[in-house]
Amino acid sequence: MTIERVELADPVVIGSGVAGLSVALGLPRATVLTVGSLGSTGWAQGGIAAAVGEDDTAELHASDTMTVSGGIAVQRAVEVLTAGGSKAIERLIELGAQFDLDDRGELKLGREAGHQRRRIVHADGDATGAEVQRTLSAAADVSDSVDVLEGWRMIDLLRDDLGVTGVLAVDSAGKIVAFDSPAVILATGGIGQIYRHTTNPAVVTGDGLAAASRVGARLADLEFVQFHPTGLMAGRDPMPLLTEALRGEGATLVDDRGRRFMLRHHPDAELAPRDVVARAIFWQHDKQAGAFLDARNVEDFPSRFPTVFAYAQEAGLDPREDLLPVSPAAHYFMGGIDAGSSGRSSVSGLWAVGEAASTGVHGANRLASNSLLEGLVFGALVAEDVHHAQGLGGRIGSWTAGLAECSLERPPEVDAVRQLMWERVGLVRTGNGLWDARNRLVELQPRLMGSIPGRVAFEVAALVTTAALRRSESRGGHYRADYPEPDSFQANRNLVEPIPKETE
Ligand SMILES: Cc1cc2nc3c(=O)[nH]c(=O)nc-3n(C[C@H](O)[C@H](O)[C@H](O)COP(=O)(O)OP(=O)(O)OC[C@H]3O[C@@H](n4cnc5c(N)ncnc54)[C@H](O)[C@@H]3O)c2cc1C
Repeated sequence: MTIERVELADPVVIGSGVAGLSVALGLPRATVLTVGSLGSTGWAQGGIAAAVGEDDTAELHASDTMTVSGGIAVQRAVEVLTAGGSKAIERLIELGAQFDLDDRGELKLGREAGHQRRRIVHADGDATGAEVQRTLSAAADVSDSVDVLEGWRMIDLLRDDLGVTGVLAVDSAGKIVAFDSPAVILATGGIGQIYRHTTNPAVVTGDGLAAASRVGARLADLEFVQFHPTGLMAGRDPMPLLTEALRGEGATLVDDRGRRFMLRHHPDAELAPRDVVARAIFWQHDKQAGAFLDARNVEDFPSRFPTVFAYAQEAGLDPREDLLPVSPAAHYFMGGIDAGSSGRSSVSGLWAVGEAASTGVHGANRLASNSLLEGLVFGALVAEDVHHAQGLGGRIGSWTAGLAECSLERPPEVDAVRQLMWERVGLVRTGNGLWDARNRLVELQPRLMGSIPGRVAFEVAALVTTAALRRSESRGGHYRADYPEPDSFQANRNLVEPIPKETE
């Protein structure tokens, strides 16, 4: 196979969501390789959490984040995140973002579960992510310092004995190019597509996590997957999301006889932490008692929640009159490539940011609307760090043995992996179920490894399953029916150092 080599003097950012573009726009020069701007960012609905209200402070926002995290968020990282809130919003407004305003012309603030204050900045009701993506993509388009190369998929990281030296990527026509670069920043988003039911777009497959594991980068908290309680059961894959802000505006969860069931699960009922609400809905389905969102009392539904309204209409439902059938769906990954606020991974030359990274700000459970904020705040900090760290350019690295010969086709076994992850490594896990999942993955492995999408699915599924087996307690997004309580001896982050794969 012929592989062209291109030397870049600039850092190369993989991914063009909120995190990748925030890094690129903060650097004097950057090249962005991206499958396209179709990651989770553009689909975010609720908004951006930021302590900008008169009755709010960054400390209060930090305290809410710590409370929801299951006790293992990293306090310092959380403080950096919440302190950066108002500056991040100001910066987006400077770049042209149009957020919803109240009658006084001040930012209109919504409330979501786990937040003690109204602090969710939103755009066009429930289309905040689209506005963030539009704003950052437009800024990158007009910037002389950022080159965005669309239609490129990173398939591996290049490395030598000193660390990461670039990336191997393929364009939409199948041409493979090795980009040598002094700094690689992974901003590839989460892993939602590893689950049968997810709210994440098709491109969110965990490519960055898989590639980082092949070079032996330290990974963290891989067992912590957040399942959103309210995907709309309309037979679509990915599942349309019914934003939590609806519950913030008074929508309730009811069973098939119209009775509210959250009251018996948590004092905050529908505004309990996401994992509690998601499991309650899971159990409703398990005992075939039904789960519906009753949003008939939400005022101005079509104008306040136009995206959700359109999803419901497509499914033949009118949220002003009908109950909306809901199911949990894999939504957000708290785990990822271990990185501090500066984004540095454990491997020289490699940074991670956004949902691909695990900085410890979410602990075992993310507070709603903290992730766009994470991309914005840490994106700027990562850019600063990369800028100051650059220096080792012009090295020629090699890629994982056999990888460049893999096909780009997605094998049918990927669907088997997604189903297996949903059933065995989903909302309610057991030791036996997790061992079953591991054994089944090993059986499927030979049929997955010959293709890039298959290989990534195997690698990501195996990492998450193994981490879930290691944590024999329940905490945040990780619930073990055989260990239903938290164990104070396990109140730590779960760090893994994969063995680097051989190169050619
Ligand atoms: C439906 C939905 C609603 C949400 N609502 C909210 C909300 O209201 N508030 C909030 O804070 N968070 C919300 N989230 C979560 C939030 O949107 C994400 O956590 C955040 O946008 C992640 O940003 P990112 O830049 O890390 O990744 P993404 O936005 O997912 O971007 C990943 C990028 O990487 C690219 N990519 C992936 N693999 C490769 C590869 N191999 N090669 C090249 N490029 C690649 C993709 O094309 C994409 O450009 C929501 C998520 C979803 C799915």
